[in-house]
Amino acid sequence: MIAAIRLRSAEALTLHLTLTLEGTQHVIALRRSPRAKRMTLRLRNASRDFVLTVPQTVTSAMARDFLERQRGWMIERLRRLPARVMLTPDAIIPLRGVAHRVVHRPEGLRDVTIEAARHGEGPTMNLCVSGPLAQVPRALLAYFKREAQRDLAAAVRFHAGKIGKTVKRVTIRDTTSRWGSCSSTGNLNFSWRLVLAPAYVLDYLAAHEVAHLLHMDHSPRFWKLANQLSGDVARAEAWLKAQGARLHQIG
Ligand SMILES: [Zn+2]
Repeated sequence: MIAAIRLRSAEALTLHLTLTLEGTQHVIALRRSPRAKRMTLRLRNASRDFVLTVPQTVTSAMARDFLERQRGWMIERLRRLPARVMLTPDAIIPLRGVAHRVVHRPEGLRDVTIEAARHGEGPTMNLCVSGPLAQVPRALLAYFKREAQRDLAAAVRFHAGKIGKTVKRVTIRDTTSRWGSCSSTGNLNFSWRLVLAPAYVLDYLAAHEVAHLLHMDHSPRFWKLANQLSGDVARAEAWLKAQGARLHQIG
């Protein structure tokens, strides 16, 4: 049942409802929208939470009532989310779209190395992590961020060069809502998780943000340039739509 309702701040039109689903409490962000014609509920895959958008006239009691009726649907959606994958030994993690098994090598000299797996079923590649066991997740995360920085900086340089631009800074973040962004000052930001995706996806995102250096919108002119820079626009967009949520469940 719905336990509590509270206002986030005095003037904010955002309410937070909590709903207990199968013993776990979930916070549901309630957004009032002047454009909303009816109540719509969606699950944000990356943060594993729900957003309920309601028309201005809907009361919180009506919103609570609506949520109660959606309970079954919400439980089903949560069940269908891909399982979380921890950065711990034996986890199977994609790197540049290729499955790798995490192997702990306490005696290793370099923090993370890649080697071919010897035999057996499963991934053909191993991600070997040295140092203490407790440090494996942190070492792997740092490694993925470094690799993402390197791949994205190179791809950005390549695409920016084609349109005669130079990019001052490429920053790697852990964003949940966007894979990349372009600031008005020409700095580009990306999610480190792109290094987990196939290389053509990362390359497309670099091309996409570089195209924003000339067109700060998603106009036909923007898409024309994006397609000139990347030959994989449709394929990469389709991959992100189908597989992107999975990347957010890693780490
Ligand atoms: Zn864009």
